Amino acid sequence: MTGRVFKSTGSWYLVEDANKRLIECRIKGNVRLKGSRNTNPASVGDVVDFEIEPKTGKGVISKIFSRKNYIIRRSTNLSKREHIIASNIDQAALVVCFKNPRTLTGFIDRFLITAEAYGIKSIIVINKIDTYDEDAEAEASYIKLVYEKIGYPVFLVSAHTHKGIEELNENLSQKITLFSGHSGVGKSSLLNTLVPGLNLRVGEVSESNEKGTHTTTFAQMYRTNDLTCLIDTPGVKSFAIVDFKREEVATYFPEMFRASANCKYNNCLHINEPGCAVKELLEEGEICEHRYENYLNIYESDNYKEDWE
Ligand code: GDP
Ligand code: ZN
Repeated sequence: MTGRVFKSTGSWYLVEDANKRLIECRIKGNVRLKGSRNTNPASVGDVVDFEIEPKTGKGVISKIFSRKNYIIRRSTNLSKREHIIASNIDQAALVVCFKNPRTLTGFIDRFLITAEAYGIKSIIVINKIDTYDEDAEAEASYIKLVYEKIGYPVFLVSAHTHKGIEELNENLSQKITLFSGHSGVGKSSLLNTLVPGLNLRVGEVSESNEKGTHTTTFAQMYRTNDLTCLIDTPGVKSFAIVDFKREEVATYFPEMFRASANCKYNNCLHINEPGCAVKELLEEGEICEHRYENYLNIYESDNYKEDWE
């Protein structure tokens, strides 16, 4: 039978069969994707073949189909081992918040360029709008304006009042969307709102450091209807990029990449080269200042490869 992995702990799996039933599975020891160095051989989102063992009623995964795409989590130890968070996803949703806690644009841009590097589209979900004062509202409108112009859909929502949820649901329909975000932004609350019957634990935001509590568990996929699935990634703040070169950073800012066709030098880094079309658009206000500053910060940071927090 062919199914899709909805949960992977590395030692056991939940696989959804053709009748949308979740079946507990283990994996045959010798099933690994060819050439893979990954610690867990099957990840959430993988399409797999499995057989039911008559004795136990449980499944055994015998084949993993090749992946359309996948994203890797930053390694938390020094083992240099890759850990795939999820595969075969249609888009990534970054949940952010502009009041308690406040997400910085540096974090947003690092997330977006990482997804770009994986060839994955992103949307931005601004949550907790029911709590916003004038400043937070202004910031939310500004972010919507700037990022939609670049090509990232932005949704203003409240997991509590359900404002904006219908519009967000329309975007999510018929896709597999991976949800990420700093703890405390309301990702769990949002998923509880979006997935019928889901009851994820909702944490408290500590007032002192504006950081929510979280426990690191495994990514899990949830079905919202026949055609739509969401993936929760608890404890994952951002993704790792393997072989990410400093010189490539600007190509993952879509507006800079588009402009770079008109730069005088084709290897222009848009820093202080003459005839730079990116800097021209920056001066004209066509390219947004904070995006450009975040570009410089990422370009100049020594640890752009490993740790972006
Ligand atoms: P997570 O860490 O991102 O999963 O965030 P949680 O879903 O655990 O929520 C963190 C805190 O924010 C909890 O106290 C939630 O009740 C609160 N929260 C989440 N969404 C909203 C919202 O839309 N409005 C308001 N006012 N509070 C929210
Ligand atoms: Zn340039």
